[in-house]
Amino acid sequence: MAGVAPVSVGILGVTGSIGTQALDVIRAFPDRFRLVAVSGHTNSLGLAAIANEFRPERVAVGSADQVAIIRKHMDYDPVIEVGESGLVALATHPMDQLVVAIVGTAALPAVVAAIPHVPHIALANKEVLVAAGSRIMAMVRAHGTRLIPVDSEHSAVFQCLAAVDFNRDRIHHMTLTASGGPFWGRDPHTFDTITPAEALRHPNWDMGSKISVDSATMVNKGLEVIEAHHLFDMAWDRIRVVVHPQSIVHACIETVDGAILAHMGRPDMRYPIQYAMTYPERWATPFKQDGLTALSGLEFFEPDRDAFPWLDLAICCGKAGGVMPIVFNAANEVAVPLFLNGQVSFMGMYDTIRRILDAYAAETVVTIADIIELDKRVKNHVTIRNSLV
Ligand code: NDP
Ligand code: MG
Repeated sequence: MAGVAPVSVGILGVTGSIGTQALDVIRAFPDRFRLVAVSGHTNSLGLAAIANEFRPERVAVGSADQVAIIRKHMDYDPVIEVGESGLVALATHPMDQLVVAIVGTAALPAVVAAIPHVPHIALANKEVLVAAGSRIMAMVRAHGTRLIPVDSEHSAVFQCLAAVDFNRDRIHHMTLTASGGPFWGRDPHTFDTITPAEALRHPNWDMGSKISVDSATMVNKGLEVIEAHHLFDMAWDRIRVVVHPQSIVHACIETVDGAILAHMGRPDMRYPIQYAMTYPERWATPFKQDGLTALSGLEFFEPDRDAFPWLDLAICCGKAGGVMPIVFNAANEVAVPLFLNGQVSFMGMYDTIRRILDAYAAETVVTIADIIELDKRVKNHVTIRNSLV
């Protein structure tokens, strides 16, 4: 590719599971990508090592006390930004592309800041679409930003939609697959004995702790239905979920003339990350797939909606709209660490979310600032309520 300038890339959440796999993609194409901006949050040493390897011009850390630590471990002198305002500054750094790999709505101000500035956003984070999907998609349309999903199911839907020229009238419905998580088939009467270590042990994917627990409860699939509704402007009754324990088929669309177009691949996030970073091109990947015979033995089941009541609760909040998906997501973002710290049981995560929803049902939000404020208020409320129990 002599003579073609490399694509300048920023990665928010570079120290995490998706962030480090996005680095693998950049390492695979060293002449075609140039990393210019990165953020971490708590992992200062990991961030310093990444910065030393890729030498981005701008680096953001979570808090001021990390600046001296990271400087001590870096062998060059980039601009260092701090905290929430630092993330926003990083998101508006001049670059061709931004990968958003922060977990949770902490990414929302940065995503909103990036949309008018960065022409191409590879979005792994789903919580921002759950909390502010209609506003984000309106901004994306207004600014002509290219927003490409990284989440494997949404990347799969996106690739299937290309086969019908992104014409939704040609689709009868879309199906997102769910692995079922580590507790698929387990007796629900034993769910209260589930330990954090068991919940973190996902059968097919190696991911960050929050999404691993979300997969164990099936909150993740509920969030993904809401994500798909916004990303693809798809009516709720045209988005289905099936459990597919092998995680080979990531999603499919059924066309109005009866074809089922499925996207298949080994469960490895580097494929959808590379696709989102190289779209609309396809670059020869070093991350090789096994042949079709290695992917055989595929099974599909209806989800167990009684054992995993989070799935319908999330979808119900998504359909209700208004503040409900914001409150659901915020309460879940607190419930997961409460479970991981041993403060609530596995099913206690459901009760924690369920109890908080009514308290906010009558509220309204208009702007993104309102959403950010409500998200913080709900998180404080759930945290305080649980510290008093
Ligand atoms: P990780 O927990 O592995 O990484 C999260 C990243 O966000 C880290 O870089 C972390 O920094 C940073 N971070 C955490 N909290 C904050 C905060 N308050 N402010 C700024 N930065 C913060 O998460 P994953 O990589 O697993 O997931 C990232 C997103 O991608 C999630 O929304 C998830 O749902 C989605 N996703 C993930 C998949 C996966 O396979 N992991 C698959 C599909 C979607 P530090 O580590 O330095 O503290
Ligand atoms: Mg997914």
